Amino acid sequence: MRLVSAGLTDVGCVRKHNEDSMRMEPELGLFVVADGLGGHAAGEVASQIVVDRVTQFVQQTIEKDRTWPLEYDVTLNYDGNRLKVALLLSDQAIVEDIRKNPERETMGSTVVACLIQGSRATLAHVGDSRAYILDPEGIRQITKDHSWVAEQVTHGILTPAEARVHPFRNVITQALGNGGELDVSVQEFELQKMDRLLLCSDGLSGMVTDSEIWSITMAEKSLENSVSLLIAKARENGGEDNITAVLIGFSSDEDGPSV
Ligand code: CA
Repeated sequence: MRLVSAGLTDVGCVRKHNEDSMRMEPELGLFVVADGLGGHAAGEVASQIVVDRVTQFVQQTIEKDRTWPLEYDVTLNYDGNRLKVALLLSDQAIVEDIRKNPERETMGSTVVACLIQGSRATLAHVGDSRAYILDPEGIRQITKDHSWVAEQVTHGILTPAEARVHPFRNVITQALGNGGELDVSVQEFELQKMDRLLLCSDGLSGMVTDSEIWSITMAEKSLENSVSLLIAKARENGGEDNITAVLIGFSSDEDGPSV
């Protein structure tokens, strides 16, 4: 099986700047989507710091003999630790940038990052950028948003449908760069041959329903076409926020690195 991927980011129909950033590094098996917060050209700085720092750390830790910069979490495998530390270092990098550039004090970023080795996927996230797995049977969201409405859904106070339209739907409970304690969510799973893994910012998941995402993605053989159509659908539905989608799958043909 060969890893194939496609990704696009789009400013949407309302915002002046695109504060989302994405990075696809198939040779590393690394895919990252970050959604910057803070406005005034600060959000895009924050999300760019995240994708750069995460990529840099994953690159630096291909070999296991590197001195570990932060606490090693024995409950996670090596890739889980790579991603967790990469996110914590991104958080520190944003805080450090704010210290040098106080005018950016409100900036921060969400992130969802995935490392794929063979069929094994390791996923880490902070905030409400999401990962979904799609297969011919359906779509399932595999990240749980760090958001106020997600907490209300967990406690049975809101239904998922109510959460989708709630006025506080954009309130996240943690972000990189906010200077507080971070609880990075990390998970590992096996990808099946027919699976497609979607990483996205809330400009996609907030504008396009899960069932629309599923039908658009599964109708297309080409991942490039799928991401273009997902972005187009988010714009058609209003495009109220920046939109980023990265799709990852397996192919039996030659266009992609061997896994
Ligand atoms: Ca957003």
